[in-house]
Amino acid sequence: MPGPNDLWRLSIHEARQTLAKREISSVELTQSVIQRIGEVENRVKSYVTVTADLALAQASKADGRIAAGDGLPLTGIPVAIKDVLSTNGVRTTCSSRMLENFVPIYDATVIEKLKRQGMVMVGKTNMDEFAMGSSTENSAFFATHNPWDLERVPGGSSGGSAAAVAAGEALYSLGSDTGGSIRQPASLCGVVGIKPTYGRVSRYGLVAFASSLDQIGPFTTNVRDCALVLNTICGHDPLDSTSAPLPVPDFTAALAPDLRGVKIGVPKEYFVEGIQPEVADLVRAAANQLERLGAEVDWDVSLPHTQYGLAAYYIIAPSEASANLARYDGVKYGFSVQEATDVWDAMMRTRQHGFGEEVKRRIMLGTYALSAGYYDAYYLKAQKVRTLIKKDFDTAFEKYHVLVAPTSPSVAFKIGEKVANPLEMYLSDVCTIPINIAGLPGISIPAGLAGGLPVGLQIIGKPFDEETVLKVAYAYEQATEWQEKRPDLG
Ligand code: GLN
Repeated sequence: MPGPNDLWRLSIHEARQTLAKREISSVELTQSVIQRIGEVENRVKSYVTVTADLALAQASKADGRIAAGDGLPLTGIPVAIKDVLSTNGVRTTCSSRMLENFVPIYDATVIEKLKRQGMVMVGKTNMDEFAMGSSTENSAFFATHNPWDLERVPGGSSGGSAAAVAAGEALYSLGSDTGGSIRQPASLCGVVGIKPTYGRVSRYGLVAFASSLDQIGPFTTNVRDCALVLNTICGHDPLDSTSAPLPVPDFTAALAPDLRGVKIGVPKEYFVEGIQPEVADLVRAAANQLERLGAEVDWDVSLPHTQYGLAAYYIIAPSEASANLARYDGVKYGFSVQEATDVWDAMMRTRQHGFGEEVKRRIMLGTYALSAGYYDAYYLKAQKVRTLIKKDFDTAFEKYHVLVAPTSPSVAFKIGEKVANPLEMYLSDVCTIPINIAGLPGISIPAGLAGGLPVGLQIIGKPFDEETVLKVAYAYEQATEWQEKRPDLG
């Protein structure tokens, strides 16, 4: 049991037990997390907004609930929320000038669900502007630093949420994943991050990037915690027409150390050209470990259309973004330029100054791809490729329960290394994007260190079969000690 100043080191399930036994209070736990933020935040910079007073007030309420025997699994546990999720009364910026002073008047469904549990929100985390990026350097405010090496990126776009959990500035966090934005930063920061199946979690109140791809999911320090958070945030929501009307299983019930009877495929296309050899080695070693745990591993699986995933994504996602971001016109809410000759001029100037470079690049790409005469050549074609990618997975899942692959082809890169070359940045997502394109669940879990930097193992499952994904992740985690390793920030 850590001392009073070290309570931030607890996992959710440990904290929950000690809270229930009244050995600690949520206020003490929250104070420890706030103190930790005070110690490391000037180096890591995970947060756009820290809500310490709100958190302490919520913690004290949570303590009341626990005392009354009314505690739920997440009651009183400090959480960080990606600044893309609408929080009633708390600024929600998407790390964009456009929404720098935007204070929503409603909660996202996931926030409401956490509030019902007795949420303690310590802050809103930094991200790539409107979730467009892989390094959190596209934030309009500042870059977030990787807790394992402060000169490196934490990944993106949910870099603040991943770094906060890795650095002990929250016990868990929420992020969003459109093309890898939960799994890739989880991999680079050495934590657990899952993108649930498309439709599993309501996106009501998630600021939309690419609506056919976006999903919300948690970051945690271990697989059991991941299952616990999923239990809370999943489920059908009439406010999101894409949310699936399916029952939510107890995801913790699936966790077991034994993998006998589980068939696992290793798709060769994911060991892409240019992958760091240490990353490939660690992922192969992880698959070997799964074999030792009783799984049957087939090393020779092919998903032949993988190579077209990135190209299809960079048509589909910007196209949808160009439509979704049309709402930021300076009229209804957010940043607005007043000095203008007429309404069109005002909109133009608002968008010129309110959006950053990457966001503008995406809007232009998407508008072009959707314009008359080009639609068939680009958007429609990309959608056809999407079907082919989905079919590759369907065929593979006739034989295997899950597929395992690298999450990112490299460990965390240096801040500034890829900003000048958007194409190179896009390549960071080559192993995560196909999973969004096919709408599948995928988790990234720590699988070792290369040169002192975390490497992630990605486990990909059938639609709505998060249970098997979590089961394999848990068995691996229990058999290795990677999850216990934390960055040394003093
Ligand atoms: N890095 C990818 C992009 O920039 C994915 C982002 C995400 O998943 N939100 O589009």
